[in-house]
Amino acid sequence: MRHCTMARSIDNRLRRSASASRSGETGRGPATFTAFGLAAEAEALAPGLYVVATPIGNLSDMSLRALATLAAADAVLAEDTRVTKTLLAHYGITTPLVAYHEHSGDAVRARLLGRIRDGQALALVSDAGTPLVSDPGYRLVEEAIGLDLKVVPIPGASAALAALVIAGLPTDRFFFEGFLPAKAGARRARLAALAAIPGTLVLYEAPHRLSESLADAAAVLGNRQASVARELTKFYETVRRGTLAGLAELYGSEPAPRGEIVLLIGPPDPNEQAGLAAAGLEEKLLAALGQYSVKDAAAVVAGETGLPKRDVYGRALALARAAREG
Ligand code: SAM
Repeated sequence: MRHCTMARSIDNRLRRSASASRSGETGRGPATFTAFGLAAEAEALAPGLYVVATPIGNLSDMSLRALATLAAADAVLAEDTRVTKTLLAHYGITTPLVAYHEHSGDAVRARLLGRIRDGQALALVSDAGTPLVSDPGYRLVEEAIGLDLKVVPIPGASAALAALVIAGLPTDRFFFEGFLPAKAGARRARLAALAAIPGTLVLYEAPHRLSESLADAAAVLGNRQASVARELTKFYETVRRGTLAGLAELYGSEPAPRGEIVLLIGPPDPNEQAGLAAAGLEEKLLAALGQYSVKDAAAVVAGETGLPKRDVYGRALALARAAREG
């Protein structure tokens, strides 16, 4: 096995005899993993549920703490045990795997939470990235908290944040939406519901739906700035930036891309929003003026829109006057 200074220091920091307690209880050997070609021994874990992020493509995006946690846990709860088996094998981890996925029912959760109550440390992972982020685990975490069990995050990769930080779109506020509905009507309705959010929208998207979703987003949200991040951290990592309409045209003119995709859409232009709000106000006032006096129409619309009464009254007066004067 190759040795290097960095590897030796990892080894020294992580090598503790505490994992002997695990081997005593489970009959397994000490909790070890290999990194930089060197075996390291992980410290024992306090009983609890450890929510562990794993790479979104590049296996090196694995923190030392995540490796030590997976190595020292009594079991790794995996969305797909075959996928996680490959990751564990890559790092020489032999912790037993247990399936935990979106179809796992109450009985499975009760059994797993019982193991934690009995003193075990369980590590939850998904196929890629951070569990619970468009991935299973929410109910398990919720129930663990309800039972007053220790729940520990072991942070790491997530496609949403990786895509956001290289999108070139505002990062001060963002909204994670996950996957849009697959059907066009529901997708447009969902986009309309997101239209007023004053931050960058972060969406996960299937490659075969990308060009449709871009076109729908352009139609519903206007021609905002956007970014498409594909195969992040992998060999074919690509980022395309542009307007929604431009990207819709680009992706519509070529075969559907392959791989995994995050779509990011910039926030609405505040001036455009104000224009839309003003247009909405005028429409509402005209309808109300058909039914009520100027004063009452202004009161009704101010109540509906939340806009200041004085401003709405001024606008109502102007509209009523314009209508009178033909
Ligand atoms: N829990 C994961 C996370 O933290 O990113 C996300 C799981 S979700 C089921 C899978 C979706 O994440 C993919 O369809 C894609 O939209 C996005 N994704 C995952 N890995 C990606 C990558 N390497 N590049 C771009 N998008 C990725």
